[in-house]
Amino acid sequence: MTTTQTQGGTWQRRFGDSLMRSLSTPKVMLERGLGCEVWDTDGKRYLDFLAGIAVNALGHAHPVLVEAIRAQASSLIHVSNYFATAPQLQLAETLVRITGAGDRGRVYFGNSGAEANEAAVKLARLNRGDGRRTRILALQNSFHGRTMGSLALTGKPALREPFEPMMPGVEHIDTTIEALEAAMGDDVAALFVEPIKGEAGVVDLPDGFLARARELATQHGALLVLDEIQTGIGRTGSWFAFQQLGVTPDAVTVAKGIAGGVPIGALVTFGDASDLFEAGQHGSTFGGNPLATAAANAVIGEIEASGLVQNAVVRGDELRAAITGLQSPLVAEVRGLGLLVGVGLSQPVAAEIAARCLEAGLIVNAPNDSSIRLAPPLIVGAAEVAEFTRIFSSVLKGLA
Ligand SMILES: *Cc1c(COP(=O)(O)O)cnc(C)c1O
Repeated sequence: MTTTQTQGGTWQRRFGDSLMRSLSTPKVMLERGLGCEVWDTDGKRYLDFLAGIAVNALGHAHPVLVEAIRAQASSLIHVSNYFATAPQLQLAETLVRITGAGDRGRVYFGNSGAEANEAAVKLARLNRGDGRRTRILALQNSFHGRTMGSLALTGKPALREPFEPMMPGVEHIDTTIEALEAAMGDDVAALFVEPIKGEAGVVDLPDGFLARARELATQHGALLVLDEIQTGIGRTGSWFAFQQLGVTPDAVTVAKGIAGGVPIGALVTFGDASDLFEAGQHGSTFGGNPLATAAANAVIGEIEASGLVQNAVVRGDELRAAITGLQSPLVAEVRGLGLLVGVGLSQPVAAEIAARCLEAGLIVNAPNDSSIRLAPPLIVGAAEVAEFTRIFSSVLKGLA
């Protein structure tokens, strides 16, 4: 056994002994990062094509983000919601602008994706329609978070069952227009949809699904809530995926990429949905604090200044073309939009592929047995796409 393996054994034992069993022990301990690269505690380099699950939009240690956090931390980190701060106002106005929520748009800040969805669940409960709207619709195989409200929305029974009873009123429907038409009615308060199901393996919605959801929600007075926690903030090649899919939601939830890794979540409402919350009905101690909002302002500012939404289109196209071009019998399909890419496999070997990539210095993710998820930083360049392709190709060849 080498020295480094011995050290690895040590930290893995400490992890196993001290962290809650809800987390499995990782294979690698990371020490630092720069751009699209990270290094582990043995000095081994990895190309990061997961970006902390679509979080590190600017990659690692981006000077603009580092400086924004440093500058804000040296002035105000936190003030509570008894006070306003300039970064909070700026971020709210920016989110209203980039979502296109318009004059009536409003923003609530929490600290995570799950909290953004919790706020959206409360919004749905406020859409009572004189008490008749008691149902919430969500999709099978969806993922909306791990807190009890967001878990109730999540369409994966195995995640919910140990924690039942769930919050009542949620129904999970098949992701088909027929199921939507059958379930929708005047008693539905809200329909929650991921424009692309990220945790399910980057699975696109059927053609016409979102447009029909919009029509039916409007017709019945239900809120169309889009969970863009994974797809938002430029990742799919537009600020939000819904902007390419031709619908306007009543509310959007945002988190992951927005502050490049500083925890923050947001609920953005459109039109009448912006009038539902009244003073005192929701809040969070940390939500919208100046540190997190300043980080988000820096990330969004840098995405705009460097054209990273357009980069997501260009690099996403390159990545898709490269994977398709491998003509590997293991690749059944390539899914997703922009820099959120799902590789559908013809055999259930995703975990083995991810492990071999890691060994070869490439971080990818296996959200299930037959899908590989890629979500590189939005700053990713042609050279990194080429390096990914070289490693991924040799790993696929080794398994075919
Ligand atoms: C990650 C994710 C969440 C949960 O976000 P957390 O920050 O982990 O609470 C919810 N919805 C979607 C679509 C996600 O990808």
